[in-house]
Amino acid sequence: MSISENLKKFNKELPNNVTLVAVSKTKPVSDLMEAYNAGQRIFGENKIQEMESKWQEMPKDVEWHMIGHVQRNKVKYMAPFVNLIHAVDSLKLLKEINKEAEKNERTIACLLQIKIAEEDSKFGMDKADAATLLSSEELKKLQNVKIVGLMGMATFTDDEKQISDEFQKLKKIYDQFRIMNSELKILSMGMSGDYKIAMENGSNMVRVGSAIFGERNYQ
Ligand SMILES: *Cc1c(COP(=O)(O)O)cnc(C)c1O
Repeated sequence: MSISENLKKFNKELPNNVTLVAVSKTKPVSDLMEAYNAGQRIFGENKIQEMESKWQEMPKDVEWHMIGHVQRNKVKYMAPFVNLIHAVDSLKLLKEINKEAEKNERTIACLLQIKIAEEDSKFGMDKADAATLLSSEELKKLQNVKIVGLMGMATFTDDEKQISDEFQKLKKIYDQFRIMNSELKILSMGMSGDYKIAMENGSNMVRVGSAIFGERNYQ
């Protein structure tokens, strides 16, 4: 199926309260334009410089989401335009984003990445550290960043029960945090292989790449 047909299928399948981030990493601008022409406006990338060069080339009403791990020294390249940073996992990184956002006279929306997967390789904070950060005085001083939700990735496995348990765990954390912080509105979880399980467990933002654009040759 073509990119536009895949998108049509997703738009039919996803309920209105679930936002679709089209993950276009490694794909050429011509592919992004096909999605754009089919109505897609939110794109996710995992490398800052790749996202920046696509931002230069694409129409200006595109919303850009950084979904990958962020290196502090590269924040400056996306600060002028990024709409949502999904994988924030430290106060140190937030301070850098705040500094660059201020230079650009912007406020940048961020999600805290929570570690829910078993594997050691996944980035993210544990629940206690995230709770401490969210209620810290230091965070209140950062006027140019706003934490608007949480993000998580499940273990890469065929075991649907495990995936479901991990997403459920994040949904519980999200609900608990929301009692104290009404600004949290986004729960970003689910990719091509597990977005259905994520939605069953309360996701309201899915990050879908290969199921829209086809398989990638490299990450
Ligand atoms: C690549 C990537 C995705 C999309 O993966 P697919 O399996 O192609 O849908 C989602 N989230 C993150 C953080 C990614 O790096």
